[in-house]
Amino acid sequence: MRKQIVAGNWKMNNDLSQTESLIDALKSKAQTSNAEVMVAPTFTNLYPAFEALKTTNIEVVAQNMHFAENGAYTGEISANMLKGVGVQTVILGHSERREYFNETDELLAKKVDAALANNMRVIFCFGEELADRKSGNEETVVGNQIKNALFHLESSAFKNIVLAYEPVWAIGTGETASPEQAQDMHAFIRKTLADKYGNDVANSVSILYGGSVKPANAEEIFSKPDVDGGLIGGASLNADDFFAIVNAF
Ligand code: PEP
Repeated sequence: MRKQIVAGNWKMNNDLSQTESLIDALKSKAQTSNAEVMVAPTFTNLYPAFEALKTTNIEVVAQNMHFAENGAYTGEISANMLKGVGVQTVILGHSERREYFNETDELLAKKVDAALANNMRVIFCFGEELADRKSGNEETVVGNQIKNALFHLESSAFKNIVLAYEPVWAIGTGETASPEQAQDMHAFIRKTLADKYGNDVANSVSILYGGSVKPANAEEIFSKPDVDGGLIGGASLNADDFFAIVNAF
């Protein structure tokens, strides 16, 4: 049985006091859920968030990390540093990292390797741009993003990998992929995995959908057989909305 996961990506939002308020609100709403629940605060708020949530079933995860263990990489954070503040899972490859910080598939492959070498779990994001979808190239683009960054891995690595399909045209735009578009792409992603690693691996990897998921559309998207949860941006900044999405399972 694949894990169902709902992860909130807070991006560069919430200073310390806002983080504390949101965590208090989350704690007051947290209840038993079928899904694993995660939140990703900024680097500076990871430790307070971890301390505040460590007795709950909400996991604190990071939004990014560097591939090196340490060294002359001003402004960067390593896997070891994340683990030192209780973080076991990292989001890699978010489209905003790819677009604004020039993160390539090759760089992401190194980050994935570093996270796995440190026994961390990776939520690996990818997705096509609007022009790719309009030209009918969305499967080629997504297939290449997956192959280039992940297909050097042994099949055993996939027990620590969660995939997040996030069409760039649906992130923060209010535009959502239809449940059918999400299902079609998730089925393609699973087939891509199966062709390389076999059905057992493909059927064990959770594939999340991200892109303007809201309380109003979560249930229909999550009802699709190959959609195992969501990566939530804007709606994760509000505890009521976030838990309405979690409870959509
Ligand atoms: C995201 O940033 O991963 C995301 C899906 O954002 P939003 O939900 O705001 O579209």
